[in-house]
Amino acid sequence: MLAMTEHDNPPLLLVGGGLGGMGLALASARAGVAVGLLEQTMAFTEVGAGIQLGPNAVRVLHDWGLGPALDAVAAYPEQLVAQDAFDGRVLGRLALGERALARYGQPYATVHRADALALLYAAVQQQPEVTLHLGQRLRSVGEHDHGVEVHTESGQTWAADALVGCDGLWSVVRRHVAAGPAGLKPGQEPPWGVPPRFSGHVAYRGLVPMSSVPAASRRSVVTAWLGPRLHVVHYPVRRGEWMNVVAVVHGRQTANPQSWSHEANRMDLRQALGDVHPQLTDLLEAVPTWTLWPLNDRPPMTGPYEHAQSRVALLGDAAHPMRPYLAQGAAMALEDAWTLGALLTQAPKGQAAQRSLDWPRLFQQYANLRWPRNARVQAQSVRNGRIFHARGWVRGARNVALRVAATRLMDKPWLYSGPPRPL
Ligand code: FAD
Repeated sequence: MLAMTEHDNPPLLLVGGGLGGMGLALASARAGVAVGLLEQTMAFTEVGAGIQLGPNAVRVLHDWGLGPALDAVAAYPEQLVAQDAFDGRVLGRLALGERALARYGQPYATVHRADALALLYAAVQQQPEVTLHLGQRLRSVGEHDHGVEVHTESGQTWAADALVGCDGLWSVVRRHVAAGPAGLKPGQEPPWGVPPRFSGHVAYRGLVPMSSVPAASRRSVVTAWLGPRLHVVHYPVRRGEWMNVVAVVHGRQTANPQSWSHEANRMDLRQALGDVHPQLTDLLEAVPTWTLWPLNDRPPMTGPYEHAQSRVALLGDAAHPMRPYLAQGAAMALEDAWTLGALLTQAPKGQAAQRSLDWPRLFQQYANLRWPRNARVQAQSVRNGRIFHARGWVRGARNVALRVAATRLMDKPWLYSGPPRPL
């Protein structure tokens, strides 16, 4: 008879295999802690489009030994340029490339989400401590004094000492954390337990092969075109072989807000943008197909209790979904994973395997470390959206400020020098 090992019944369960969950699976394994990861999809297929990874996120990937894997798929833009969406004027520039490397010790990267996920997945597959369970959609969570119990739609039950919900914006684990172990009657949720809110913005996303990008836009630059009630961002991905284009305009919630890729109508986008600069129009016309993504988020976190309670913690979008205007959604999920990994590394060796690790204490440390930074990034993302879409005198003041102090306004040392190390 085969003996049960900690790998059959790992001390830590993760729900959700996005960048955050996959990152945490890797970080836990590197700390010598066995994990089981439940993911609802049957395979890690090519979904999503571009994401930006500031030096803080690249630092995390390097620390996990994934620098070479990132080099194989990323682009490293030379500059971040803000331009007026209508008259094309350059409003401000921030040098990235060598400057980011010199200042932060890590570059600023842009990647396709699927490539970032694939490189984490490849690293996780090398780790015998990680067991992946695909096609397992979480239904509910139960908690008792000594552990947690997780029930999936397939009818299976999983037990562990602790659970981390990495299940994204529409997190089921979050509902459990908000209700507390005893549960709550409907309507009694704390304000942070209610469903995400629609931001009023929708994002049109598309990818163009670099060979089809009009010459004027074929550059290794993150460009943000700013206009009243709209902005468009584009940057290279896939080693510079593709250009990722995202246009954000004011719009309506879609029928199924949980989908990342609704079919989008090019005419609707044209109408929403109006008569933008010809260089931008030419690029938008080169995008073969558009998908629509309604932007939902939550208000900034208000305390550590939103990150973890008792034996259940939240990570990434499950804890702090954010608008993409500081381009830090993926980075904060990776930072969360790195921080939990660092705390597990510091914990006395073997305690997780011997089932004697004090998970509530470890999760509390994690929550105290992470929530203020995540709340700040959430708040700045909302503020950036207002600045990007400004009209009237606010727009004028923004342009003047960018003209006189672009580097100071566009650089973010407090952010890019992270993640903060646990003491
Ligand atoms: P997510 O990336 O949302 O990952 C959550 C994971 O949990 C997913 O794998 C999901 O399938 C799984 N999950 C959810 N509910 C359950 C459940 N009940 N049971 C089991 N598993 C569950 N951001 C961009 O900036 N640009 C993009 O193009 C982009 N595309 C995306 C495409 C998809 C399909 C997804 C899921 C997310 C996308 N994002 C995109 C969001 C971005 O990846 C996240 O904001 C960021 O990386 C934080 O990651 P996360 O791991 O916290 O959450």
